Amino acid sequence: MKDSLKIDFARNVELAKKIFNLLVRELRKPKLSNIHDIQLNAEQADIIINLKSGNLTGFKKIIKNILMDLFKNDTNLFSYEISEFENIIIVAKKIELEKLTRFLSCEICGYKTIYEEELFTHRYTHAGL
Ligand SMILES: [Zn+2]
Repeated sequence: MKDSLKIDFARNVELAKKIFNLLVRELRKPKLSNIHDIQLNAEQADIIINLKSGNLTGFKKIIKNILMDLFKNDTNLFSYEISEFENIIIVAKKIELEKLTRFLSCEICGYKTIYEEELFTHRYTHAGL
């Protein structure tokens, strides 16, 4: 099985489309030559990138850098934060500090719990496991 990377936009379809178009435009650049194909899943607001060969960790870093560069230059995206979980990069609004002290919250869907173990198990549901 080829390695793939998912960028999850926490149900923000518009943002997923915007980033998808930007990535497609950058595809010819050498740093993205490891991409086999890239798919926008508008319904789920995510992007799936399939790689030619498996250097997932290195590639994840490249994608994160591209996203961070984009976000730095776009004030509309200033309130977003990039985090990662296994082969998923999550782009979501920053969680308010007040909420953090009371609940642990899923970065992808906002699911809340006070139990760390429960949140860990919950996150796996997004990976389709
Ligand atoms: Zn969730």
